[in-house]
Amino acid sequence: MKTWSCIENCGACCKFDLDERSDLNDKLTNKDFELIKSMTSKDGWCKNLDRTNKKCMIYEDRPHFCRVKHFSVLFKDYLKNGDKFLIDCCKQHISSIYGKKSEVMKKFILEIQ
Ligand code: SF4
Ligand code: SF4
Repeated sequence: MKTWSCIENCGACCKFDLDERSDLNDKLTNKDFELIKSMTSKDGWCKNLDRTNKKCMIYEDRPHFCRVKHFSVLFKDYLKNGDKFLIDCCKQHISSIYGKKSEVMKKFILEIQ
């Protein structure tokens, strides 16, 4: 089985549209939602993402819902399918931000081989 790994200079999951994430309703508190709203720019990108290199500027102190392995245990799909679930999530994010055939996608695919 392939092992999930985050790649540098991606940040594709750092763009939020809570209207499209009803799956988070039972996983986040009101405080979490308030934090997400305060972190999100008008264009949907997290204010903590350095847009020039796509790196998190508060990586060591990022919220619990940004800690993929930690947060993923709240998802039934992760408990059932393990890293495949995480890999599919990353592919969806990367595809929507950079495109299916983007260099970022190629880098991600290589990383998880
Ligand atoms: S989409 Fe995946 S690879 Fe890209 S920053 Fe998020 S967790 Fe990392
Ligand atoms: S806090 Fe960091 S990891 Fe979390 S969404 Fe913002 S830039 Fe991404």
